[in-house]
Amino acid sequence: NLEQGPEGRETPIQVVLRVRPMSAVELRRGEQSVLRCSGARTLQVSPPGGGPDLAFRFGAVLDGARTQEDVFRASGVRQLGELALRGLSCTVFTFGQTGSGKTYTLTGPPPQGEGVPVPPSLAGIMQRTFTWLVDRVQHLGVPVTLQASYLEIYNEQVLDLLSLGSPRPLPVRWNKTRGFYVEQLRVVEFGSLEALMELLQIGLSRRRSSAHTLNQASSRSHALLTLYISRQTQMPPVDPGEHPVGGKLCFVDLAGSEKVAATGSRGELMLEANSINRSLLALGHCISLLLDPRRKQSHIPFRDSKLTKLLADSLGGRGVTLMVACVSPSAQCLPETLSTLRYASRAQ
Ligand code: ADP
Ligand code: MG
Repeated sequence: NLEQGPEGRETPIQVVLRVRPMSAVELRRGEQSVLRCSGARTLQVSPPGGGPDLAFRFGAVLDGARTQEDVFRASGVRQLGELALRGLSCTVFTFGQTGSGKTYTLTGPPPQGEGVPVPPSLAGIMQRTFTWLVDRVQHLGVPVTLQASYLEIYNEQVLDLLSLGSPRPLPVRWNKTRGFYVEQLRVVEFGSLEALMELLQIGLSRRRSSAHTLNQASSRSHALLTLYISRQTQMPPVDPGEHPVGGKLCFVDLAGSEKVAATGSRGELMLEANSINRSLLALGHCISLLLDPRRKQSHIPFRDSKLTKLLADSLGGRGVTLMVACVSPSAQCLPETLSTLRYASRAQ
């Protein structure tokens, strides 16, 4: 049971499934829902046109009636936050096809217009975790330094969403003390919830306005917001650009998992499709090897993509990873939904 916390679990990966409600467009088209929750942990799939029902089990299954607060509670993110406070690297990522609710789940809906605030009840996992963490740190009674970075991986290039100048691709490096890290990534110290929310907004608006998302409604990049949590009693960092070693909590909004090739992408888009699939395949491959009881840590191919390099310490180290798999209930989406369900099932 996820409510009991991640520590007693055998595997470092927990999987929660979220089914979004039917959209207005899907309802107007008269599309049928093919997904049904059966109990708190089982999803029942009824293929249209007959055929036997399929059942998938996850740590929790949340249907379209569940609120953002329900999802935050049921996914056990607070327990990950507690582990990060104790120095572990933890990751929350959303996985699913474009339009399945990944970004909504992590950050809530986009603002409906200039200066129109999103109601707090619609805030996503990220804002809720931020609120919890800043409050938790204030009540710890020991000085804690909080920092954040926010980057995007697009076509296997790392771009800093918080960079002061125009972003240019940054190299991913490795060393013994830090493991994999992004060179010259801007890591910003924040002292308040408001300051952190502002960093999130800067990154989100840069993502929305970047050239490759303007002409594509779908999201073709992975976005990683990382919180660095360190007790101030530690040694100060050696390099000015280096963040002190401590706990980490990373939130990853993955690119859409659909097979982009099937939509007829060519040229530039084909390159995107390849690098999206490459990193999602690499992620799935690393996860399945990690779950193999005969695994040897040294043989996990984290180096196969930028994404798996940057998630290596929470996937393979002493961290905990939570995957929120997102799906649409509509019959039209069933092929992609099944591939998401299979990917998510294999990860647990
Ligand atoms: P993705 O990031 O996977 O491409 P989005 O998060 O952008 O998908 O969601 C697609 C659309 O569906 C958006 O308009 C979003 O606001 C809406 N949506 C997603 N999940 C929900 C939900 N649980 N409740 C209400 N609307 C949702
Ligand atoms: Mg999105």
